[in-house]
Amino acid sequence: MEIKFHQVTKSFDGRQVIRPTTLTVEDGSFTTLLGPSGCGKTTLLRMIAGLETPDGGEIWLDDVCVFSHERGINLPPERRNLGFVFQDFALWPHMTIFENVAFGLRARNDTDDLKNRVLEALRTVHLEDFEKRYPHQMSGGQQQRVAFARAIAVRPGCILFDEPLSALDALLREEMRHELRELTEALGITSVFVTHDQTEAMSMSDRIAVLNGGVVEQYDTPENIYHRPATAFVARFVGKSNWLSETELFRPEAAVNEHMEGTLHYDLPVQKVQYLGDSYEVTVPYHDVTWTLRSGRKVTPGQKMSINIDPQKIITFQMKEVM
Ligand code: ADP
Ligand code: MG
Repeated sequence: MEIKFHQVTKSFDGRQVIRPTTLTVEDGSFTTLLGPSGCGKTTLLRMIAGLETPDGGEIWLDDVCVFSHERGINLPPERRNLGFVFQDFALWPHMTIFENVAFGLRARNDTDDLKNRVLEALRTVHLEDFEKRYPHQMSGGQQQRVAFARAIAVRPGCILFDEPLSALDALLREEMRHELRELTEALGITSVFVTHDQTEAMSMSDRIAVLNGGVVEQYDTPENIYHRPATAFVARFVGKSNWLSETELFRPEAAVNEHMEGTLHYDLPVQKVQYLGDSYEVTVPYHDVTWTLRSGRKVTPGQKMSINIDPQKIITFQMKEVM
């Protein structure tokens, strides 16, 4: 399912939390809305689902206009053919896993072949044989998979995920990243995923929309977001950025120990050292900012570090922001 926003806006209590937004989510893609808390991610997602009504603009799902302010169109959630996975899983505690997964189908009166469809959804998430259990008898990761099974049981055109991994502990979160990605890929289903976690966004997405205060600052591949940030905000929010000036920065891996022809050279004192297992993360002061670098060798605070930067790896952009 292709999702199109055209000049969509939304205000709460007279404050515009989504500025005019135009964006196309490609059919079959895994697309992430990334940004700090309060930037409007959930609001955008809920507007796709029909759980929140925009003030202006249009939303299209494939060839169907599901919302148009001008034409007075607003399809209810149950007619948009979408699946939703929430942060807290939203499972019914008094219902078995089977009934939880069947819930969406029953709500739509779509009960033909119900049993097989529920069991097939549970098989997809590797939870066959769990249908008689209750949510409290399942681990966090299993509950998350049930929530996913419930979303796909209705065979939606798209699945919307609102921070679905943030309730899980760190290790499980990483496992579930891969698993969710594999599942959505195997189903070939369009996925819109909301997170404030840049690592999650970078590792899972085909495309990322970076939001700041209701504005999409960049909509691009993870690689371009990292290597070609469009704005200072994007550069700061994704990855470590080491500022040379107000409009120039480099990523940690652009700095090497060895001085080479044409590299910019700095000798700066080490501030902090953190062992990462495969390398050390080192901070050094540069004028009024701090750079974060990698070192293969152990260094100690106070020691001078030789820093050499290939000018071609410096990222430069126009100042757009009013500081
Ligand atoms: P995010 O998901 O990125 O954290 P939200 O989309 O939930 O952000 O919220 C964006 C802004 O809109 C926030 O400032 C939030 O307080 C406000 N907001 C969201 N929902 C409502 C609501 N129902 N009533 C009033 N303000 C809201
Ligand atoms: Mg949110």
